[in-house]
Amino acid sequence: MSDCLIIGGGIIGLLSARLLNEAGLDVQIIDKGEPGRESSWAGGGILSPLYPWRYPDPINQLAAWSQQRYPALLQSLLDETGIDPELEPSGMLFLDDGEDYQGWAAKWAVECQEIEGREELAGLEPNLAAEYTRGLLLPAVNHVRNPRLLKAMLASLRKRGVKIQANVAAKKLLIEQNRVVGVATPEGEIRADKVLVAAGSWSAGLLDEFCGPPPKIQPVKGQMLLYRAEPGVLKHILMHEGHYLIPRRDGRILVGSSMEYTGFDKSTTPQVRDELSTVATGLIPALAEYPIEKHWAGLRPGSPEGIPYIGACPDVDGLFVNAGHFRNGVVMGLAAAYLGADLMLNRDPIVNPLPYQVGTR
Ligand SMILES: Cc1cc2nc3c(=O)[nH]c(=O)nc-3n(C[C@H](O)[C@H](O)[C@H](O)COP(=O)(O)OP(=O)(O)OC[C@H]3O[C@@H](n4cnc5c(N)ncnc54)[C@H](O)[C@@H]3O)c2cc1C
Repeated sequence: MSDCLIIGGGIIGLLSARLLNEAGLDVQIIDKGEPGRESSWAGGGILSPLYPWRYPDPINQLAAWSQQRYPALLQSLLDETGIDPELEPSGMLFLDDGEDYQGWAAKWAVECQEIEGREELAGLEPNLAAEYTRGLLLPAVNHVRNPRLLKAMLASLRKRGVKIQANVAAKKLLIEQNRVVGVATPEGEIRADKVLVAAGSWSAGLLDEFCGPPPKIQPVKGQMLLYRAEPGVLKHILMHEGHYLIPRRDGRILVGSSMEYTGFDKSTTPQVRDELSTVATGLIPALAEYPIEKHWAGLRPGSPEGIPYIGACPDVDGLFVNAGHFRNGVVMGLAAAYLGADLMLNRDPIVNPLPYQVGTR
């Protein structure tokens, strides 16, 4: 019997496991598939909300906290495992007009540079299509190669003695006298003192019976394309009309993404492939010369306003939730995991936990 059983080996479950293990708990993770292969793997790894000024404070709060601390975590993962999550200080360039960002920038003390004129823009991004003549640059935004981050996290946790089981699905929480005692799986019961549900898009299904009102989490499909380009073709993360391009260190370029409310369906479609490639070559015409290497989809754990549910389930002792991070689970993930661990360990929380409370919305 472990001190804490974590359901879900995505970024939230893995970061939570690291912190709980560091606090001295005996931690076990189960995943219904391969850990780290769902939303956290499928995403873009941008360490910023997409248009941060459009999001409420609870999201910016977690994002800002994580942004400051990711570099140290990624360095220690590299030192521990030899796996480089490739933190890239590319900055993020917005090409949309009329964004009302000033109040947000002042509140969160974020450096923003307005770029005026074709020449100045081309100096930043030489391959950008000629029709773009102005932009807004957030120079401090980084991105990370999320599949490598997950690989490094898994390697580090295994070294630290955290038990990680793939292909073990939690089917039902086991509750005795208003206290969680473990989960039922097809392989039998797993008993634990505390249970953390970090099952991304699948979390609500496990909690429906026990958490009133249950978290409103639903899958929102996002499709992505990967171009096999060369270093230098794109220098910054580009944002335009809700779509983005991300330059990986080796020259590959990710293009995202769709927002589809189609249940637990991860199929890709030729329509979205066309839409994303049109966006990509419209922004960077040179991309037409490079092959599309991959096309995939992932399920974001959608939640109202994108605010995650973090904390104890009010009706069941020992049962905790950290889920519903929607479009920003990587950038918010570090802070979300810290906050969740603080609440599980009765420590002073890093931020006010009220906006994320379970059972209140
Ligand atoms: C296309 C796309 C682009 C994105 N881009 C970004 C970005 O640039 N920046 C950013 O910050 N965020 C981004 N996101 C969002 C981010 O990826 C998610 O918010 C985050 O990965 C959620 O992490 P998670 O651990 O909660 O969920 P997941 O990674 O989905 O992990 C949940 C895990 O739980 C397991 N599980 C589910 N049910 C059970 C069960 N019953 N028993 C056992 N295990 C179970 C699953 O198998 C899975 O491994 C993007 C998402 C997508 C899809």
